[in-house]
Amino acid sequence: MASIDMVNIVKRYGDGFPAVNDVSIDVQDGEFMILVGPSGCGKSTLLRMIVGLEDITSGDMVIGDRLVNDLAPRDRNLAMVFQNYALYPHLSVYENIAFPLRLAKAPDAEVDEKVRAAAKTLELEEHLERKPGNLSGGQRQRVAMGRAIVREADAFLFDEPLSNLDAKLRGQMRTEIARLQKRLGITTVYVTHDQTEAMTLGHRVAVLKRGVLQQLATPRELYEQPGNLFVAGFIGSPPMNFLPATVEGNSVKLPFGTVQLPPEKAQKAAGKGLLMAGIRPEHFEDASVKTDRASGSTFRAQVDVVEWLGNETYAYIPFEAPPEVEEQLRQLERDLDGESLHTQLVISLDGASRIEEGEEAEIWVDGSQIHLFDPATGENLT
Ligand code: ATP
Repeated sequence: MASIDMVNIVKRYGDGFPAVNDVSIDVQDGEFMILVGPSGCGKSTLLRMIVGLEDITSGDMVIGDRLVNDLAPRDRNLAMVFQNYALYPHLSVYENIAFPLRLAKAPDAEVDEKVRAAAKTLELEEHLERKPGNLSGGQRQRVAMGRAIVREADAFLFDEPLSNLDAKLRGQMRTEIARLQKRLGITTVYVTHDQTEAMTLGHRVAVLKRGVLQQLATPRELYEQPGNLFVAGFIGSPPMNFLPATVEGNSVKLPFGTVQLPPEKAQKAAGKGLLMAGIRPEHFEDASVKTDRASGSTFRAQVDVVEWLGNETYAYIPFEAPPEVEEQLRQLERDLDGESLHTQLVISLDGASRIEEGEEAEIWVDGSQIHLFDPATGENLT
């Protein structure tokens, strides 16, 4: 096993805009690292540079204690698990797993021992004689991982392995990958554009936008302490709500009213002029069911749609983004691949709420959970 250290990595295709721009990420030995971001952010390019399928324009790629910049892919001892698993349909599960050992001309006894040990770890022992075509998606994924295990690779690299699957299978496979990675304890780098995969699988998550690393943190830190507007909007579903804001004393003026802030939060944003406030849907509540309202303020709003999902209820409040922040919100929408941020507020309601569509309701908002961003740089000031 090994650590993977990416140091100031740059990738330019031709003389254009860098696809990866000065990215440094230290993947620890045994860590599950996620590379996430919208289409074109450079995550696949980064993964391909780790494996050696793509040259590095500048920077250092260090695997374990070896600088691998100029090392051929086969000499890096990494195992890439592709979207389609790249299994051979005419070979049995046994031979699919054995494949790298056969290529290396390993003796039969060694092949047998390693394949059976991997099959045991992956609970594939009963399926060794079957062909991939007769396996479930989850089993195929395990065969692909078995092939990586017998090679005794230093790390697993996954490029969007679940993106072709339907939602239910994707959920199952996600749990399976998490379980296996935990059991094997093998260094893993996993590329996805799906924030649920990023949040549930990763020990740490690297969020990228247009080739630039935005934040490298644990899922919880990303959610609770997003470093900038982009990360705040990218992580979380439904996304964070964004509103123009000005801080005056210990309160913040928002389009629907003035909300009390904890003094330390207010101080960090004092005297900065027009800001962008970010509030997650669950930090609003139906005021009539919220008994402890000490940390926030209430306001009245017209709710136009209520979505009851069984375990969650969302209410939508139409919202005209004021002209001074509309362009920023539209830019953020483009960065986030079209999330609708400038037309509505989304709030997540307690199951006990009886707010109805078309009603003017009293809404509570938690001032202690409001983030304040510098609209020019996007930086989270709080
Ligand atoms: P996706 O999720 O759509 O695969 P990504 O985040 O993995 O996107 P990359 O595939 O790494 O993004 O691409 C990053 C940028 O580099 C994009 O702007 C892409 O157009 C560009 N790019 C990728 N491969 C090449 C190439 N071989 N030649 C020129 N430009 C490329």
